[in-house]
Amino acid sequence: MSTFQAPKGTYDLTPPRSATFLAVREAIAAPLRDSGYGYIETPGFENVELFARGVGESTDIVTKEMYTLTTKGGDQLALRPEGTASVLRAALEANLHKAGNLPVKLWYSGSYYRYERPQAGRYRHFSQVGAEAIGTEDPVLDAELIILADQAYRSLGLRQFRILLNSLGDKECRPVYREALQTFLRDLDLDEETRRRIEINPLRVLDDKRADVQKQLTDAPKLRDYLCDACKAYHEEVRALLTAAGVVYEDDEKLVRGLDYYTRTTFEFVHDGLGSQSAVGGGGRYDGLSEMIGGPELPSVGWALGVDRTVLALEAEGIELDLPYATSVYAVPLGEEARRVLFGVVTGLRRAGIAADFAFGGRGLKGAMKSANRSGARYALVAGERDLAEGVVQLKDMESGEQSAVPLTEVAAELAKRLG
Ligand code: ATP
Ligand code: MG
Repeated sequence: MSTFQAPKGTYDLTPPRSATFLAVREAIAAPLRDSGYGYIETPGFENVELFARGVGESTDIVTKEMYTLTTKGGDQLALRPEGTASVLRAALEANLHKAGNLPVKLWYSGSYYRYERPQAGRYRHFSQVGAEAIGTEDPVLDAELIILADQAYRSLGLRQFRILLNSLGDKECRPVYREALQTFLRDLDLDEETRRRIEINPLRVLDDKRADVQKQLTDAPKLRDYLCDACKAYHEEVRALLTAAGVVYEDDEKLVRGLDYYTRTTFEFVHDGLGSQSAVGGGGRYDGLSEMIGGPELPSVGWALGVDRTVLALEAEGIELDLPYATSVYAVPLGEEARRVLFGVVTGLRRAGIAADFAFGGRGLKGAMKSANRSGARYALVAGERDLAEGVVQLKDMESGEQSAVPLTEVAAELAKRLG
């Protein structure tokens, strides 16, 4: 160990577990790429105001969780706590919405930073893959995104997740509900901070995780009873499309989520094997966000899935991914001449797209075969002076233990055939 350790609330991704992280990112990205979403990458930090306005002044993210800094030049920056505000900022800046091709469909993958109390599944540096469909109000888009996240989780083999769905109304009906809710909440027995929240963002009080608060909320007015006809129809359409696609969801009236910018459709993916950090991903429609950050009216919808918690969910379900990164062939040379020849074979295999590795450092047969085992390789190639004199290498099947001599000139073809 060195004198240093990873900062509190962070951890390093190291082999072999890191391969699972890559595979999870890829599994989430694949359905998006296949559905017309283009890759976008934005800086790891932004002007702090983007998040203050875009995520919302009353959210935990902005009030408690942002890493902010002042540069030597005096700029106020924040490490990005989430992706949506940055992606929308970048799309507007690049005028993607003006190309006459709405919606602008984008996906991203990266690190996010929140100053939280670290615990299992909750870190100060974590990883998300997200998707945004910008500029179109169409229930098919909301449904598409939920279906693609469901597809991603299923492709990983996850089964114990649930989709929670709600509608938060729009600028017509939400204010009426907001007032009714405020009137109800003001009569409850709540602490000072929560009372302040009632005035700034009362819907978020519904999101309070504390049991004594939840108990008092049983008779709170329900947003469902206040939705305007347009919002109701929109929500029914989203639900019908999900059902038609065979995606199972649960209506959850209390689902409001932590960000201010959501309107209408809102959803969360929860996994039942994760204890209190059960949300593996979430998202929704954010029709007002563009205007909040100084852009034109661009109704949009998106989600972000947490890579860290998805990996924890895989572990909770005991799922081991079939990782494509594993070494297929491990070469063990015995002697100087064999080193040169086998390294040539390995290079050839790699160029032919076969994952191959090599016993470096001139080690003995026993130690090298141990490494071959540990690499998970399906085949080992062993060659000593006598083999080379005969123009062959020994090809060993690491599963059955069977070994046969294969002419040097035919090794690549033989392995390609065996590995399919
Ligand atoms: P939570 O209610 O657990 O705090 P959140 O609503 O703040 O979650 P979002 O902002 O919606 O989370 O982010 C989407 C996903 O990113 C979450 O569902 C989760 O998987 C992941 N995520 C968020 N914060 C963290 C964190 N601190 N550590 C690890 N993953 C996180
Ligand atoms: Mg949070």
